[in-house]
Amino acid sequence: MGECRMKAIGLYLHFPFCIQKCRYCDFPSYAGLESRMVPYLEALYREMESYQETEKEYEIGTIFMGGGTPTLYDGDSLVRVLDKCRECFPVREDAEITVECNPGTAGREKLCILGKRGFNRLSIGLQAFSHPAGGNAGLDGASGRIRRNNPQQYADAVWDRSESRNQQCRQWYG
Ligand code: SF4
Repeated sequence: MGECRMKAIGLYLHFPFCIQKCRYCDFPSYAGLESRMVPYLEALYREMESYQETEKEYEIGTIFMGGGTPTLYDGDSLVRVLDKCRECFPVREDAEITVECNPGTAGREKLCILGKRGFNRLSIGLQAFSHPAGGNAGLDGASGRIRRNNPQQYADAVWDRSESRNQQCRQWYG
């Protein structure tokens, strides 16, 4: 007989902070609130703890940390969030664990920390390699609201092959 496993559900954690608000973005995300980032994590932990004793019938099959820009947090903070998930919920050994990433906020060092400490999928939000308004890497443009990522940032954001099982790249255009 096959192994009987509990039903798997997905856990989504939202990180509503961005370097700058993009003009077209409808996601709940805010710029200039860096001072709230640590208190937000503390509130998130309390919220997770409040579910700790109630969610006994399910296992967590996927965790998605999205935003906003989760990779505005340093690697150790994101690892602590993942550890908290495991502390509060039954997370499957083979769970798919994704962090959404803006290449401009996630260099190789940070991604290596994440890859070594349990994250196995990267969702890269890549908006443009170039912009007619010109400017340098990262946030730029005459409006200041189109996020540009230069190819090197993208390359740096691609997980080391030995540590990544899965990558997703979302390219927006229009
Ligand atoms: S970086 Fe992404 S989440 Fe943040 S404002 Fe721009 S599109 Fe929205």
